[in-house]
Amino acid sequence: MIRINENYTKLKASYLFSDIAKRVSAYTQANPSKPVIRLGIGDVTEPLPSVCIEAMQAGTAEMASRTTFKGYGPEQGYAFLREAIAQHDYAARGCRIDADEIFVSDGSKCDCGNIQEIFATDGLKLAIPDPVYPVYVDTNVMAGRTGANINGRYEGVTYLESTPANGYVPSIPDHATDLIYLCFPNNPTGAVATRSQLAAWVAYARENKALLLFDSAYEAYIRNPAIPHSIYEIEGAREVAIEFRSFSKTAGFTGTRCAYTVVPKSLMAFDRSGQAHSVHALWNRRHTTKFNGVSYPVQRAAAAIFTDAGKKQVSEMTSFYLANAALIRSAMGKLGFGCVGGDNAPYIWINTGRDSWEFFDLLLNQAQVVCTPGAGFGKCGEGHVRISAFNSRENVERALERIAQALR
Ligand SMILES: *Cc1c(COP(=O)(O)O)cnc(C)c1O
Repeated sequence: MIRINENYTKLKASYLFSDIAKRVSAYTQANPSKPVIRLGIGDVTEPLPSVCIEAMQAGTAEMASRTTFKGYGPEQGYAFLREAIAQHDYAARGCRIDADEIFVSDGSKCDCGNIQEIFATDGLKLAIPDPVYPVYVDTNVMAGRTGANINGRYEGVTYLESTPANGYVPSIPDHATDLIYLCFPNNPTGAVATRSQLAAWVAYARENKALLLFDSAYEAYIRNPAIPHSIYEIEGAREVAIEFRSFSKTAGFTGTRCAYTVVPKSLMAFDRSGQAHSVHALWNRRHTTKFNGVSYPVQRAAAAIFTDAGKKQVSEMTSFYLANAALIRSAMGKLGFGCVGGDNAPYIWINTGRDSWEFFDLLLNQAQVVCTPGAGFGKCGEGHVRISAFNSRENVERALERIAQALR
């Protein structure tokens, strides 16, 4: 008899985006003359930078000739890309990360989801943000690291709460945990962590022989020069942190697929007897066993981002979304809502002062604007909605006019 992994039965089905789609389609069917504007989904809308298109086309042309054709590449990524990342994303910011500590992949979603495989499934204490990017939680549920879901929370998980009271930056737990997920700039809140807040997490991890999983998918949106882009800007992080980065939000690669994970060679994790093992060696084993590399033209396109022209195009693209975000934050602030995010992130997290689905319905029905109800990201998301800056300027301006009219 073929049996299932029963941990999957503990998963709370996420109806968030399908519920949103249902409500939107019911509205548009009843009101065919009123077009809705979508500021809900976390996907980019601008086309790829031209340097990426040119590099991808040149890479494709190489595949067309027997002399330059590429078959399987290194599972960890081509040296030209890993070296460019090490130099421009790390050395340039004073971080000591070698090219062979970088693992190129087809997405941070996969990396954030897969990384837990190399750690124990029994007795590991998890710390996970609330509200949260759901991948961190669900992949640990699948692996059996949690108990049942009771009232929206899994037993055996320490929830790192982001609330108006703590400025949406969770404080450090008052007890030891082992595997800690952090995401700054944050999805869904758009909040950022200061250098001293990150330093406190690194100190906590060192004290507890714990490991930080630092998701910095949105680092390209940081404009405040005092905010670290990488966890490795913090002294001592090389011994306790893995970092996830993606070209998805940085350069519009959500449909093209390229990301990377940094695992320093100085990072150790322990077996039952307390003996230290190299996490880099474990991840290298896992990655090379289960993954065969990102396509060559896509790695060429990713590397183009690190040229002078590429940096300029990426900065223009992220600045375009940030200008949308500034408009949204200012308009919602003027309407009297407490907001976080939007200044160093493409998301604005709005304290609605009421049920998050009720506010969602209000914006849909009165302003024909689609946002994301915060309750879909966790218990602490209740009372909030996320508005995304990923859209055209025209749509953002129109949406904000309609919201102002509806809520005035
Ligand atoms: C979009 C996003 C990613 C990147 O995912 P990809 O699989 O690389 O497209 C990672 N983490 C968070 C929190 C995100 O929002």
